[in-house]
Amino acid sequence: MELKSEILNMLKNTQGYVSGQQLCDKFNVSRTAIWKNINSLKDEGYEIEAVRNKGYYLKETADVLNESEITSFLNTKWNAREIYYYKETDSTNVRAKELFQKGASHGTLVVAEGQTQGRGRMGRVWESPKGEAIYMTTLLKPQIHPTEASMLTLVMALSIARTFQEMYGIEIGQDGIQIKWPNDIVLKKKKITGILTEMSADMDEVHYVIIGTGINMNITDIPEELQEKATSLLLETGKKLKRSQVIGKAMDNFEQDYEKFMESHDLKFLKEDYQKFLVNRDAQVRVLDPKAEYTGIARGINDKGELLIEKNGEIITVYAGEVSVRGIYGYV
Ligand code: ATP
Repeated sequence: MELKSEILNMLKNTQGYVSGQQLCDKFNVSRTAIWKNINSLKDEGYEIEAVRNKGYYLKETADVLNESEITSFLNTKWNAREIYYYKETDSTNVRAKELFQKGASHGTLVVAEGQTQGRGRMGRVWESPKGEAIYMTTLLKPQIHPTEASMLTLVMALSIARTFQEMYGIEIGQDGIQIKWPNDIVLKKKKITGILTEMSADMDEVHYVIIGTGINMNITDIPEELQEKATSLLLETGKKLKRSQVIGKAMDNFEQDYEKFMESHDLKFLKEDYQKFLVNRDAQVRVLDPKAEYTGIARGINDKGELLIEKNGEIITVYAGEVSVRGIYGYV
């Protein structure tokens, strides 16, 4: 193990302070070497206090995002077992596509501390401030028909929504957590998570599916122009959890649901659960179809994950593609 990890482990396993001298003796290195490694750990985000005559102390609450922290919270077989971490990148989806070309494996996870060109659907911007949120992309190489790929957005949405329920103890409902079909998670009707799925395929074969997820976890400043429709988990719950831990749980949940999806190639297995989370269920919504906008009542999803809209007594099936669905008075 490298010296830095050894020092980190010692800090983690010691209650209270560890003196510089203790570290020097234990690892048989100079004070300068210790000091350099401590600084490098601080640089990675570990909150280490240095107190004169006492030594170093690792604060429990450190919200560090890196490969080894995420791995320490994982219980998966294949998902997120290959992790690429970036302090800052243009977009984790772009990195994932590049990694696919270089032969990265099924289940590879790309994580970034911040994005300079985060994107939503239809080329929209995804605000990606550094250090307080999750920006991650899962690379999949599923043996499915290209028309089945969009269902994976719903699989991920449910995995993430369940993760919030389990880890933050948030209830499902208008004052809690809901899913805005197909790809957003809202908390008290404001967006906390967006999912962007992209794929590469030919006529009947998928090369890759990448699922990018942005989670507003510990953000305290929402940009002014988004305050009406966006919020963060910290702002709404007052809880500041570790990003690595949430990623670990989300990846566990996703692996389980993905395996179920691959058995049936449809969403029958999660339909009921997904619908419990569905925002505006049995309420009027506006469907922003590029051809013509219309209103109707959202009646749930079918086995393929399409949204069912009742209009003039008939049921219209809405395919996720390029369509947005809004509440009758606003975003939700
Ligand atoms: P629609 O409501 O039309 O279906 P969408 O919710 O699918 O759209 P996306 O394309 O997934 O939208 O996300 C991009 C939009 O999300 C932006 O246009 C902006 O309004 C909003 N947004 C951007 N950054 C954030 C963020 N960090 N948190 C919450 N919302 C954001």
